[in-house]
Amino acid sequence: MTDLSTEIPRLRDAVIQRLVAQAPQPAPLTPEQREALRERIKAELKARDAVLVVHFYVDAELQKLAEETGGRVSDSLDMADFGSRHAAKTLVVVGVRFMGETAKILSPEKTVLMPTLGAECSLDLGCPADEFAAFCEQHSERTVVVYANTSAAVKARADWVVTSSNALAIVNHLKAKGEKILWAPDRHLGRYIQEQTDADMLLWQGECVVHDEFSAEGLRELMREHPEAEVLVHPESPKGVVELAQYVGSTSQLIKAASQSQAATLIVATDRGIFYKMQQAAPGKTLIAAPTLNRGTCSVCAHCPWMAMNGLQNLLDALEHPAGHEIGVDASIIERARLPIDRMLALSRELGIVAGKPKD
Ligand code: SF4
Repeated sequence: MTDLSTEIPRLRDAVIQRLVAQAPQPAPLTPEQREALRERIKAELKARDAVLVVHFYVDAELQKLAEETGGRVSDSLDMADFGSRHAAKTLVVVGVRFMGETAKILSPEKTVLMPTLGAECSLDLGCPADEFAAFCEQHSERTVVVYANTSAAVKARADWVVTSSNALAIVNHLKAKGEKILWAPDRHLGRYIQEQTDADMLLWQGECVVHDEFSAEGLRELMREHPEAEVLVHPESPKGVVELAQYVGSTSQLIKAASQSQAATLIVATDRGIFYKMQQAAPGKTLIAAPTLNRGTCSVCAHCPWMAMNGLQNLLDALEHPAGHEIGVDASIIERARLPIDRMLALSRELGIVAGKPKD
């Protein structure tokens, strides 16, 4: 008889791998075309009273454009927080869909546009709201803690939303209150938090297609070649990779660690889109991408295929023709999803780890 507990995740993984292969990438542009698009985007941003809110993992050219136009480059929660505090009527979120949804939850009165609504996330795809609700029902004695990388509907089912910047502190807080936790969706991050806090955590078995590919064996070999280097790792990576790190942290925390490190060479295990901001924060340091799988064999090769769907052309399309680019979230979902996010923001502020830090 088929074991559904293993069969469903296996089928889900197969679908995700197919979607990874199908993610359409922007067409190459000449320098003249890029410059013309950049100018038109700048003009449209002004005309529409819009601001760019961009994730660390998208193309460096888009990050630079956000910097030049008074927008923000950051992690997912800080993006939403910045958007909610900014006066612009329209937020143009350049990242993946759950980021646009989170922005809409925190700013329901604003128009939220994205270059493409087809930019998925394997953590979001791997945690369908109906299956997740059933899992929560089976373990109704547990406090439901979900990572920001989930759909609005999954957030609406949660007691707490967390990010990789504040998950340790929030889980520690819940553990101190004697609460048992149901964690979703990233199994690697969940395991890391569980090991650090010793909390009672039941883990959903999702993963990020980018971080799951980092290889401990390849990393050990690279460390032998660069014995002077420090290793910075995002906790969505497998246990063997995390164990080799001198520093483990969220995207924002890794950038800060790079700027503060005494080492001149850093090996970095997270999406290579981060190198733009990390190099700014740590000028003169050599940044080396951590190896994926057996060095050279990889599916996404340290760059999220859905983040890579964002480009100058579809960004301009979103501004010029918003239909088909606007994020919509049902009002009842917004109302329920807002509660665990507000809870997280309030506790983070109390603990001094507020997502909404001053503009860099
Ligand atoms: S890098 Fe991983 S966690 Fe981030 S959007 Fe892509 S698949 Fe999701």
